[in-house]
Amino acid sequence: MNTRNGQQLSALLQQEGIKDPVVLQAVANTPRQLFVEAALGHKAYENTALPIGKGQTISQPVVVARMTEILREHNITGSVLEIGTGSGYQTAILAKIYEHVYSVERIKSLQFQARRKLQQIDLHNVSMKHGDGWKGWASKAPFTAIIVTAAAASVPEKLLAQLTDGGVLVIPVGTDSQVLQVIKRQGDKFTVDNVANVKFVPLVPGDIE
Ligand code: SAH
Repeated sequence: MNTRNGQQLSALLQQEGIKDPVVLQAVANTPRQLFVEAALGHKAYENTALPIGKGQTISQPVVVARMTEILREHNITGSVLEIGTGSGYQTAILAKIYEHVYSVERIKSLQFQARRKLQQIDLHNVSMKHGDGWKGWASKAPFTAIIVTAAAASVPEKLLAQLTDGGVLVIPVGTDSQVLQVIKRQGDKFTVDNVANVKFVPLVPGDIE
């Protein structure tokens, strides 16, 4: 598949301050166009969020890259849990870097499309679950890293409980005004670092659609 445009997006993100070569390489090698609606294909390699249907959005590339870079800064290895599969683009970036990605999505049709797209680009190290991300994925826990791509009104206790000792949760917290938090577990203690102001769709309770 032609990844020339992925390379252009990668160069753009480097200008936006993304430094990690592994993240930049993953962006360069991932055709974001595949993860947006055909009519929006011409905007796929711009640094903007775009609608993906069902009132949801594919996240802004610089945010996807930064959240992935944060995991890399914490020397995460092994499996990662993502909450909010959406288009599957962030899932693809993670799958190119980490051994295995577990991803939970509450809207079945989005999950279905994302699964097909990941298969199309030969990413098979992803397991998906239709369900409520507030609950995490207990049977696969603990995780060295959990990344949430929708904004939670408060930090879900169950996600904290599913972190390994030393594990990291990257999560946008808030409603109207949101902050990206990096929460690190050390034993039964959690340290919280507020890293940026962000704007995500809400992390909704329930697996109803
Ligand atoms: N990383 C995705 C972001 C999609 S938007 C991308 O770049 O495409 C956030 C996604 O979180 C949406 O698909 C939405 O349906 C999903 N979501 C919202 N609340 C959820 C919940 N409680 N459990 C699981 N997924 C949820």
